[in-house]
Amino acid sequence: MSTQPWYHEGLRFTCTQCGNCCTGSEGYVWVDDDEIRQIAEVLGVDEGTVRVEHTRRLGKKVSLKEFANGDCVYFDPQTRGCKVYNARPKQCRTWPFWNSNLANPRAWKQTVAICPGSGEGRLYQLDEIQAQAAVIDL
Ligand code: SF4
Repeated sequence: MSTQPWYHEGLRFTCTQCGNCCTGSEGYVWVDDDEIRQIAEVLGVDEGTVRVEHTRRLGKKVSLKEFANGDCVYFDPQTRGCKVYNARPKQCRTWPFWNSNLANPRAWKQTVAICPGSGEGRLYQLDEIQAQAAVIDL
């Protein structure tokens, strides 16, 4: 029996910058202390400002806040881009190669349905996909 994951021939992804993953229904973007520090640096504010104004605590974890319409606090509706792109959290950097999206072909199909960049564009090899999935367990 093969021990290779179902996506051993690679998966395609090139972001179209549609902004779907930064907007819409409620979700969580988990951030750690380092990420909060880096975001503060990019914004030119102190860490406390980011913590108080842009994050919320859920148990032991911290997530970015969202606007009432579900947009990420750092989503720029004018450009449909990220205001802290160079300091975007690991969760954003590793999309769509999260363990939950890679669990089986059905999960990947659902990912492709919500992210037009998934399943299209650059072919990521197995080792690249696994490296990204190992960064954060989502
Ligand atoms: S949903 Fe996919 S294609 Fe659209 S911005 Fe997010 S990663 Fe890019």
